[in-house]
Amino acid sequence: ASKYKEQDISAVISWKEGQPVPYSLLANTFEAIAGTTKRLEIVALLVSAFRAILATNPPDLLPAVYLCVNRVAPAHTGIELGIGEATLIKAMCEATGKNEASIKKSYEEHGDLGVVVVGARSTQRTMFAPPPLTIASVLKAFQNIAQTTGTKSGDQKRGMIVKLLVAAKGNEPGYIVRSLQAKLRIGLAEQSVLVALSHAVHLHRGGPAALKQPDVKLAEALEAGAQVVKQAYSECPSYDVLVPALLEHGSTDLLSRCHFMPGVPVKPMLAKATNGVGEVLEKFTDIEFTVEYKYDGERAQVHVLDGGKTVHIFSRNAENNTPKYPDIVSRIKGLLKPEVDSIVFDAEAVAYDPEKKKILPFQVLSTRARKDVAVDDIKVQVVLFAFDCLYLNGQSLLHKPLTERRAALYGSLTEKEGELLYASYKTSRDVEELESFLNESVEAGTEGLIVKTLGDTYEPSKRSSHWLKLKKDYMEGVGDTFDVVPVGAFFGKGKRTGVFGAYLLAVYDPDTETYQTISKLGTGFSEEQLSQLAEAMRPHTIPQPRHYYTWDESLVPDVWFDAAVVWEVKAADLSISPRHKAALGLVDPTKGISIRFPRLIRVRDDKSPEDATSAAQVADMFRNQAVIRQQKAQDNQAG
Ligand code: ATP
Repeated sequence: ASKYKEQDISAVISWKEGQPVPYSLLANTFEAIAGTTKRLEIVALLVSAFRAILATNPPDLLPAVYLCVNRVAPAHTGIELGIGEATLIKAMCEATGKNEASIKKSYEEHGDLGVVVVGARSTQRTMFAPPPLTIASVLKAFQNIAQTTGTKSGDQKRGMIVKLLVAAKGNEPGYIVRSLQAKLRIGLAEQSVLVALSHAVHLHRGGPAALKQPDVKLAEALEAGAQVVKQAYSECPSYDVLVPALLEHGSTDLLSRCHFMPGVPVKPMLAKATNGVGEVLEKFTDIEFTVEYKYDGERAQVHVLDGGKTVHIFSRNAENNTPKYPDIVSRIKGLLKPEVDSIVFDAEAVAYDPEKKKILPFQVLSTRARKDVAVDDIKVQVVLFAFDCLYLNGQSLLHKPLTERRAALYGSLTEKEGELLYASYKTSRDVEELESFLNESVEAGTEGLIVKTLGDTYEPSKRSSHWLKLKKDYMEGVGDTFDVVPVGAFFGKGKRTGVFGAYLLAVYDPDTETYQTISKLGTGFSEEQLSQLAEAMRPHTIPQPRHYYTWDESLVPDVWFDAAVVWEVKAADLSISPRHKAALGLVDPTKGISIRFPRLIRVRDDKSPEDATSAAQVADMFRNQAVIRQQKAQDNQAG
């Protein structure tokens, strides 16, 4: 709070009130953010920029927020940037007058087209200087670029990019190019943008009086507002709804304006790992719970409107998966009970063998095409296992307990073999019964169980302690697999020359917004897999590690990668490590945690790097492992 009192907003305002805010404000803010990893500082920098916008031209706040999160529309619309290198290099040549060879050479050297374009621009002179770029005009141009389709779209997109680059000054072209690639990569996470947004609006709406409050009071108000804004965004992840509502009414009552609505997917509720049935019973001593099969497929949040005339299917990451599942879409109407007009239910789509009436592993599902699927071409059948109901006939059920949501689910859909079934469940407190249900679930081809408290609400985007997973892995000591981000690689030797022989893996710490190394991975690969991985990872090579990576000087890889890909790995155990940085400070004040003997299970295309296993999860798993070891030791003594 004291930081905000000291901020001199007028110092950054170089434009007139009511005029469109120049893009340079954001470019300079990005530059400053890239220079720090301190979260509070990052938020303060953003707040300063947002306050300057609010003081002069509030409608520019929405486009500014989009540019900060590097998107042009809500995720579920599918409208996104991600312009390829080849197009960008051509546009850069045209805009700067440099030839392709020199741009490519500079790219090899710097590994970042943003740096290349800034360097290429500095010697370029233009005869007629175009007007300065504004925040609103840059977002508009990005939206047009993202939405241009058709046979000539390549040339048209390039033309629009050239125009932007010609008008860009100083450090601007760098951020334009990176944004176009959808790789802003300044270490700015969406949570920080949300916090900054709520702080800036609070200070703006409160006027000078807000700043005169004692620090403690102001800090409390800011914190409370930020919680509401984060909650509102998790229920209704659309800035088009959130920002205007916030501007007009502030955070009080925001949830009544900005709430879950069909057509806009919520980020799904997730589960925490446990170390076994014993822990579940202990945690939920006086709490009612139920256990369900944890199916191994793909999450499907199914939004049904107008009695089944409109159906949307969203992925775990709020992507629109409707074009992937025309078969599911076509069957929904027939599964609705007559009194259902609109419903949103949560389900797992699982590959299915209709002849043997058996579910199939995730690997089979992953062979299904993602786009433009025609029902007749479908080779992999899927069945839906429904497990939650988030909305029914005009009413959000997010704030209702699971018992009610389940009742709503069972009352709204009709089960049909091979099409839709309710997730198998059991409600029991008996250790043996639960253990045998776990074995049964694994034999049935699932990943194990999810334990859910019956009295709690749906918590969008949370890894909640009201949902606990019991995977078969827990018996081996490590409660779960890890989702890690390869951030570097070591050259292979001997037979592995030409490919990478080992990778440096990291987890993500959302609190510090850093990637922390957790292990080296170099065994268990087939030769074919090694070359496939090398090919997939090469385009992510960067010449320097990102400033938001933490690693040890004794383990510097031969090449560094952008945090871009998520791999699921299984490990033998976790140990305190002098060389790795995962969960640094959480279990040991000066040492991190590493995983031993990791093996790659699969590439997780459905996860973004920020969805990787978090530092806090690593710390939890480490503690769980200690408990299991103790139990085993006691059992051995007793036996
Ligand atoms: P995973 O790697 O297993 O997908 P995750 O971190 O993405 O892990 P978890 O919290 O472990 O997610 O588990 C939740 C996921 O499990 C859901 O996103 C969903 O796809 C899947 N799932 C399968 N069956 C169920 C169920 N009965 N209830 C809730 N989620 C289920």
